[in-house]
Amino acid sequence: MYSISKEIHFCYGHRLLNHQGKCRHLHGHNARAVIRLETEYLDELGMVCDFADIGRFVKDWLNSEIDHNMLLHKDDPVLSLLRESGERVYVMDTNPTAENIAHLIFEEVRKAGFPVVEVALYETESAFASYRRDMRHDA
Ligand SMILES: [Zn+2]
Repeated sequence: MYSISKEIHFCYGHRLLNHQGKCRHLHGHNARAVIRLETEYLDELGMVCDFADIGRFVKDWLNSEIDHNMLLHKDDPVLSLLRESGERVYVMDTNPTAENIAHLIFEEVRKAGFPVVEVALYETESAFASYRRDMRHDA
């Protein structure tokens, strides 16, 4: 198998519902997503995928949806206040943890047709979560 990985840097704010620690407060991260694509064969150029193509897609999607945005659970009581104040929010069905954000990015990349196998989300330089799925076993 061949693989490539592309790193994208972005910023987001969030808070975690029902968290007992400091993550229950609104705060932000300078995050890094690492998107890993994998194929059994290379294309006619000898590539899994052009770095520019996957980089452009993920940057464009992150810029329009996630970057400098506040990611909140749909039941978060602060949502109505932020909306009334004209703030941007990105609403998730799940708690906006690094794990769920990695999963969210994975699904967007997959829907766009890239052979993604794993997305890692570095919330800090020393803490990251990842979501992995082998698409070859999908029906
Ligand atoms: Zn956080």
